Amino acid sequence: MAVTLLGLLFMQIMYIEKMVKMRNDHFRELVTLSLYNVASNLERDETKYFLDKHLDNSQAKMRGINGVQFSKDIDLNGGGSFNGGSSTRFDTGKNSLSPRFGNERNRQEILKGEYLYQKALLNEVILNILEHASDRPIAERADSSLVRVYIDQELQRNGLNMPFEFAVVNQSAAINYCTAGYEQSVKKDDNVYSQILFPNSPNGSYATLKVVFPSKSDYVFSSVRFMLPSLLFTFLLMGLFIFTIILIFRQKKLSEIKNDFINNMTHEFKTPISSISLAAQMLDDEAVVKSPALLKQASTVIKDETKRLRFQVEKVLQMSMFDRTSATMKLQEVDADSVIYSVVNTYKLKVEKFGGTITANLNSDDPIVNVDEMHFTNVIFNLLDNAIKYRREDVAPSLTVSTSNPDDSHITIVVEDNGIGIKRDDLKKIFEKFYRVSTGNRHDVKGFGLGLAYVHKMITLFGGTIKAESEVGKGSKFIIKLPLYK
Ligand code: ADP
Repeated sequence: MAVTLLGLLFMQIMYIEKMVKMRNDHFRELVTLSLYNVASNLERDETKYFLDKHLDNSQAKMRGINGVQFSKDIDLNGGGSFNGGSSTRFDTGKNSLSPRFGNERNRQEILKGEYLYQKALLNEVILNILEHASDRPIAERADSSLVRVYIDQELQRNGLNMPFEFAVVNQSAAINYCTAGYEQSVKKDDNVYSQILFPNSPNGSYATLKVVFPSKSDYVFSSVRFMLPSLLFTFLLMGLFIFTIILIFRQKKLSEIKNDFINNMTHEFKTPISSISLAAQMLDDEAVVKSPALLKQASTVIKDETKRLRFQVEKVLQMSMFDRTSATMKLQEVDADSVIYSVVNTYKLKVEKFGGTITANLNSDDPIVNVDEMHFTNVIFNLLDNAIKYRREDVAPSLTVSTSNPDDSHITIVVEDNGIGIKRDDLKKIFEKFYRVSTGNRHDVKGFGLGLAYVHKMITLFGGTIKAESEVGKGSKFIIKLPLYK
């Protein structure tokens, strides 16, 4: 699924990239064509200008020489010498006959005369252009408003109806003139389209027309805009895919936890039940009934194992009430030191059974906290229970419970042991519901992974905090900080 999605995304991006490139190329072609046409128009205009000027000049001259109106059908002597517009020499000699006086001349002659006239005229104009065109300032040769009109016309003709900014620069790249927004647009966009104007001017006096299109990217991206929804859907699909994967993993973890829980619970319940049923079998035996010592032993087993069973059931029940506890909780004035003291006393026997010691350093000046007594007792009980459960086999367990007032509104309760310790990675998770450290070397220790979750929940409900510090192989330390009743 991931490969498919990535492939789809890749293809779409490739496609978009291709389309943008194509559109860009097409745009460049159209602009180049348009600007070429603009340059041609300007050259044609210049030719026309010189033609008009020359005609005006020669007509004025003719008028001056003959005092009569010369029309363009005067005859020229087949392209004589030319010396610029003002110094044209006309030979009005034997060949120069006006059709008015030569009705008998055949048509061919007239055409020939016409042709020669045009040719000479053009020759002269061309020479004129070559010699004088570059003398004119560029602002005159390429009039800014005319250039604008031409660019506009040509772009429209090519279907590019969009705003533009332009400048005309000379051969040393200095700007002759430019539109108001040109410099700013150039700064933002380096796509400047150039066209050389009057490339055939002698002594290199050409100019360059530079055009930028501020809205070019809009034009280019308008062609791929329709792809955006499909891209969006791909991303949506990707998001959903990731979400699904996360859900699957979470589900998998939950089902693992559930299996572990059921396995552990079965084990925890099976041991006392089998002990009890063994004791019951003993009671069936005549010999046992007759011996008070054996009878006593059987009843002790039954009593102890029932107690253990009840404790386990109680633990599961604690958890099943987990989410409802805040409603059933009765917060009241409780002397933390005295509660801890009695729990420690109850626990002394158990610790001594493992050859260990338990010490209570209850040094707080103000031990009065606002908690639910039953749950608070369970909290201390759970912590001490863990300290024994996760003891080290090689040393005698040594437990310490101490209280103190870090400031005049809090009490700190520290439960410390010299047990197996907890790895740093696990330390972050031990307060999570159902979390159990996969203790490689202590597989025999069973539990539900609920004890510390319960402790954490209760302490939070009492308005306090709990944190754990531990070093593997050295021991663990659980530090509870509770606000005082006052
Ligand atoms: P359980 O004891 O039922 O497994 P808990 O929530 O009480 O669940 O504890 C979670 C885990 O934290 C335990 O599996 C154990 O590995 C670790 N742990 C708790 N207390 C101690 C301790 N005092 N020393 C070492 N490990 C501990």
